[in-house]
Amino acid sequence: MEAEGAIAGIENIEQRISKMQGEMQGINARLEAAVKLADGSAYPTASAAKPAAAKKVQEPRTKETAMSAEVVDSNPYSRLMALQRMGIVSNYQAIRQKRVAIVGIGGVGSVAAEMLTRCGIGSLLLFDYDKVELANMNRLFFRPEQSGMTKTAAATETLININPDVELEGHTLNITTLNGFDEFKRILSDDTDKSRVDLVLSCVDNYEARMTINQVCLELNQTWLESGVSEDAVSGHIQLLQPGITACFACVPPLVVASGIDERTLKREGVCAASLPTTMGIIAGLLVQHALKLLLKFGEVTPYVGYSSLKDFFPTMSLKPNESCSNGLCCKLQSSQPTSELATTNPAADVDESSPFHEDNEWGIEVAPEAEAASSPALGEQALPEGLSYSLPVQQPAQSEVAPDAEEHMDNTEPSLEDLMQQLETASSSNKGDSKAH
Ligand SMILES: [Zn+2]
Repeated sequence: MEAEGAIAGIENIEQRISKMQGEMQGINARLEAAVKLADGSAYPTASAAKPAAAKKVQEPRTKETAMSAEVVDSNPYSRLMALQRMGIVSNYQAIRQKRVAIVGIGGVGSVAAEMLTRCGIGSLLLFDYDKVELANMNRLFFRPEQSGMTKTAAATETLININPDVELEGHTLNITTLNGFDEFKRILSDDTDKSRVDLVLSCVDNYEARMTINQVCLELNQTWLESGVSEDAVSGHIQLLQPGITACFACVPPLVVASGIDERTLKREGVCAASLPTTMGIIAGLLVQHALKLLLKFGEVTPYVGYSSLKDFFPTMSLKPNESCSNGLCCKLQSSQPTSELATTNPAADVDESSPFHEDNEWGIEVAPEAEAASSPALGEQALPEGLSYSLPVQQPAQSEVAPDAEEHMDNTEPSLEDLMQQLETASSSNKGDSKAH
């Protein structure tokens, strides 16, 4: 028993060290920003002496103790607090108590981090093992002079200058290694081994890292949002994962938005993936919009949103958990849920959904339901909405195998306009009088 106590003690110390290292990165960024401003090196000039005519260096603003709704040009939060005045959010300032972890600070994660920073999130935990390269400059956020820095250090440096109110932790860590897994979980846990974050955003680019996040979030019973952009840069998706309530990442083979291009031809050795700042920015925007809705309890959170830029198409669907998921913990959490209802509608949302938002619906617009997703009996038979297909490779022993030609078949089956119209008609007639169902 003594040995167990000692091990627990060591783990506790290791946990504290990990957290302190992350906090140090945030403090370092603050210090460096202050030093650069003090010696003027943040704004290089031709001579050592500061020219009198030089533009006055703007001091970084001091920390705000509370978010003010005052409408003055100097208030960084006036436009955000207006959301409250307009009845969209009931308590915007609650965002200051929220802690979000972002895993993968690439084209999507870095933009998501900036958005949350500008929204005044309480604290951000940033995870990445990589360094900034010039090859990243087609994307947003990082700058050429940051090449060679770790992505976490470069990101904390930039973000602390944008909003000093946000507590930042940078963790340079590869979560897919054995030690990385343990450390990742330790950093996300509090002293009682419960999650200390409100939300995890997955912005990684590989299957292993997603499976790692899935496992850690199941172990901590932590809700997370997954995101992805296709290797041909023209489509992407976001997905909500709530342990035991929605499908976990192992429940269903990962879904991709079909772009009509055979993904297998893209994944060859030595052929690098394409990326566009536009697609990544759109996916980051969708991801953070979902995060804000979850954290501040407004609107509805669609469990899966795909995006196809070539067709300007956003397929959506719900993903129920798989009763025979290969992950035992997922099955256990499913059985501990009182109902299998998706907790995607925010009960505290201010919008009165029983009455239409626009009193006079002169165009007769109705919200079409998701293609049979809500009524599908079991996950295995769950019909995928048009435009979605399973990505390869698929490792899903519990599922009926999705053969490669099955995917091709799905991609090539373009329903006729007639079919689509009929589907839409059936869908809307079955949805009459229940416009809030999706
Ligand atoms: Zn599962």
